[in-house]
Amino acid sequence: MGADFDLDTAIRKIKGFPRPEILFYDVTGILINPTAFRFCIDSIARLTSGIEVDAVAAIEARGFVFAAPIAERRGVPLILVRKKGKLPGKTLSRRFQLEYGEDEIQVHVEDVKPGSRILVIDDLIATGGTLRAAVDLLREAGGVVTDLCCIIGLPFLSYEELFRDVRVQTLITYNH
Ligand code: AMP
Repeated sequence: MGADFDLDTAIRKIKGFPRPEILFYDVTGILINPTAFRFCIDSIARLTSGIEVDAVAAIEARGFVFAAPIAERRGVPLILVRKKGKLPGKTLSRRFQLEYGEDEIQVHVEDVKPGSRILVIDDLIATGGTLRAAVDLLREAGGVVTDLCCIIGLPFLSYEELFRDVRVQTLITYNH
């Protein structure tokens, strides 16, 4: 099932977006390429097949796209972790530092069942700040989080240091 697809060819690299010093890895090139998209979903499914999950959590916004097919395949609930102010029900929140400034993510309290094992999926892990906040938020809400899976990892930003307690799997990594 496309196990030998070269994912790098589907990821656009854009220098200087959104700031001059950033090399932006754009996943829209994956989404417009059905072979690439299927390869990603099949690969995440394979990498996480041995993990027992009661729910999949998706990080807004690009994480939604990759997490939803996995939740559907596994037959488990999909929990949306959203930016502040988007979820209408009772929420728990977590603020976290960005490179410049702060952000806040939220989850519906009732979506996280106490003791449920949650697999967290996002598009890209850079500093890991967003995913660290998501793991902490889901745990505060009562979930058990042992595993993260992302399409792209940027290990030169040292995200591994933030995740001594969680396994992080990626489909492809870049070192600059
Ligand atoms: P971080 O909290 O630093 O791990 O990054 C948060 C989010 O910012 C990631 O999930 C990406 O969606 C986005 N992001 C950060 N750096 C990049 C990059 N170099 N290329 C594309 N997206 C990025």
